[in-house]
Amino acid sequence: MFQNDCTFELEHYFLEKEKKHITILGSTGSIGTQTLEVIEQNIEQFEIDVLTARANAELLIQQALKFKPNSVVITDESKYNMVQNALFDHDIKVYTTDQALCEVVEMQSTDIVVTSMVGYAGLKPTLSAIKAGKNIALANKETLVVAGEIITKLAREKGVNIYPIDSEHSAIFQCIVGEFHNKIEKIILTASGGPFRGKTRAELEKVTKAQALKHPNWDMGAKITIDSASLMNKGLEVIEAKWLFGLKTDQIEVVVHPQSIIHSAVQFQDGSIKAQMGLPDMKIPIQYALTYPNRIYNSFKRFNFLDYSNLSFEAPDLETFKNLKLAFQALEKGGNMPCVLNAANEIAVELFLEEKISFLQMSELIEKCMQQITFIKTPSLEDLIASDQQTRLFARNKKRA
Ligand code: MN
Repeated sequence: MFQNDCTFELEHYFLEKEKKHITILGSTGSIGTQTLEVIEQNIEQFEIDVLTARANAELLIQQALKFKPNSVVITDESKYNMVQNALFDHDIKVYTTDQALCEVVEMQSTDIVVTSMVGYAGLKPTLSAIKAGKNIALANKETLVVAGEIITKLAREKGVNIYPIDSEHSAIFQCIVGEFHNKIEKIILTASGGPFRGKTRAELEKVTKAQALKHPNWDMGAKITIDSASLMNKGLEVIEAKWLFGLKTDQIEVVVHPQSIIHSAVQFQDGSIKAQMGLPDMKIPIQYALTYPNRIYNSFKRFNFLDYSNLSFEAPDLETFKNLKLAFQALEKGGNMPCVLNAANEIAVELFLEEKISFLQMSELIEKCMQQITFIKTPSLEDLIASDQQTRLFARNKKRA
């Protein structure tokens, strides 16, 4: 058995004759569309079973006509007729509601479910997919933040692999392939530092939504871009890493690396460090999650060392970017605390995007929730669902007060 506590087992896809069947939850978002780009590059190796979207019916229809899935789900019921009419003649089944989402992931032929919807909404369908024995390509880090213990335990029971799509976690995964029998001393999670790296609290007082939405290296959805600016993204990733790789809090180090070329690193117990590098392009971790343990050709742009004479590293500023500190605290405390942190953050980001609270007030609101919501040491799934709702309500009311 493996010495380290990883959830991965090596699979043998060598000389595969059959196509890999893929279901994409959230196919119209940033990761979803990039997943389809990856698949398009090697279309002979894949078959799309299901595509799902929340409300972007136009793009879902376009994708369905191009990739010919068996079924699609549009969870916004008001868009159902539009999608149904567009796909009626194409032998593609159309479903709606969140319940349908949990059902389509069980589809028999599917090998891998890509979970690329945003936030807490990913939890239930991911659980359904694992229960049905489907391997997961995980882009929805919130799922592991909220219920990491329950998810990883269930994955072990079902013999299901969770392949990370998050670039840092993919980097760590790529470093430990071939090392599953070796102990990890620590991991080094790199962070770009976001658009506000080096700024003081006073300077952050008045930053606008537009400034926060401008990430220097990565092109991503709105929620994760704000999380990157506030360093909450790194905080959520610390918690995600704990569950994916079976680590203790003090085995996870965050280092700011503004060029985003080293995507993360692993230090083994002989002191040797392995890092994974490349241009910041989500399509590479997405592809690896779909093709592990194989690497297949693509035409994406390559990294050239000579274009980067300087790769630099610095410590994160935990006083200015309090969210990262709060995430470490939530992880240390355990129980439902990471769930509370996540729910409070989702509301804080919403309120910031609606320009109802300032950038720095996001951390204040999250900290308030962590102090006020009832702590549960060993929460059940139902407890977590309740804590999530309670926190959202509290955060919204707090703002109104
Ligand atoms: Mn990441």
